[in-house]
Amino acid sequence: MAEIGFIGLGNMGLPMAANLVKAGHKVSGFDTVAEAIGKAKDAGIEIAASAAEAAAGRDIVITMLPNGKIVTSVFSQIVPACAPGTVIVDSSTIDVASARAAHDVAAKAGLLSVDAPVSGGVGGAEAGTLTFMVGGSQEALEKACPALEIMGGRLVHCGEGGAGQAAKMCNNMLLGISMIGACEAFALADKLGLSQQALFDVVSTSSGMCWSVNTYCPVPGVGPKSPADNDYKPGFAAALMLKDLGLSQEAAGDVGAATPMGRHAMEIYKTFVEAGEGGKDFSGIINYLDKL
Ligand code: NAD
Repeated sequence: MAEIGFIGLGNMGLPMAANLVKAGHKVSGFDTVAEAIGKAKDAGIEIAASAAEAAAGRDIVITMLPNGKIVTSVFSQIVPACAPGTVIVDSSTIDVASARAAHDVAAKAGLLSVDAPVSGGVGGAEAGTLTFMVGGSQEALEKACPALEIMGGRLVHCGEGGAGQAAKMCNNMLLGISMIGACEAFALADKLGLSQQALFDVVSTSSGMCWSVNTYCPVPGVGPKSPADNDYKPGFAAALMLKDLGLSQEAAGDVGAATPMGRHAMEIYKTFVEAGEGGKDFSGIINYLDKL
């Protein structure tokens, strides 16, 4: 069994680390918040006094943190503490530039690393069914695999360092756009006197089908169970969607890619979040369309 360091034991990190413990690995964790530390202890995670201590001498070190600035800062603390042969896995969702900077810090110290952001949310983290989008060398991926395979149900090797983050932000830009489109279609149908069920039955089997309709329908009582059936409790919070749309716009600006729909989706979610709805599921935008 491997010795694993886990830094960032929040909504996602805690259940991911807990699954590693359940699989028999020895996990040493660190977080800056007392509440997270308390829950981690209950889950059988040994608590280290610092990020560096959590990383020292481990086979695999995983970070699950809020943003790129924190990830690069934590990498600068853990890399000097890591033993030769350690692989570092960053599963946070961050900008591509910070992901590449983190890889560079690890590589300069002779350490392997992968960026491995996830899709699947807290439910997927708890169930160990996350999809990992991985950027980094084949050698680094193979060393990280024993941990990734426990926390995830699917793993896609997207390319070299930063490619995992690039895939994550392209996917979520498309998701943000498609969710707004799905909401607009259901809102228009309603005003045209067409039942929501009838529209679902048509779209979910026609050329408009997409995950936002077929799996995660924004209308209550229609399609498979989704946050719409639970008063739009996340799921995937609108504030996190705004974060990811912001990352994709930053990346598009850096490389000169034209993403007018992505930009518009970001502006719509920004208005929604600024209206105090950031904690609602991102499909809750359906109830906000009239206010735009
Ligand atoms: P979270 O805020 O619940 O957890 C982040 C944790 O990092 C917190 O416990 C915080 O105290 C800790 N932290 C912050 N700075 C630290 C530091 N310097 N050292 C150690 N710990 C530190 O966030 P989350 O929902 O768990 O998300 C984590 C990452 O996963 C984010 O990048 C997010 O975008 C991404 N993500 C989240 C979801 C989701 O549904 N929540 C889905 C996919 C990806």
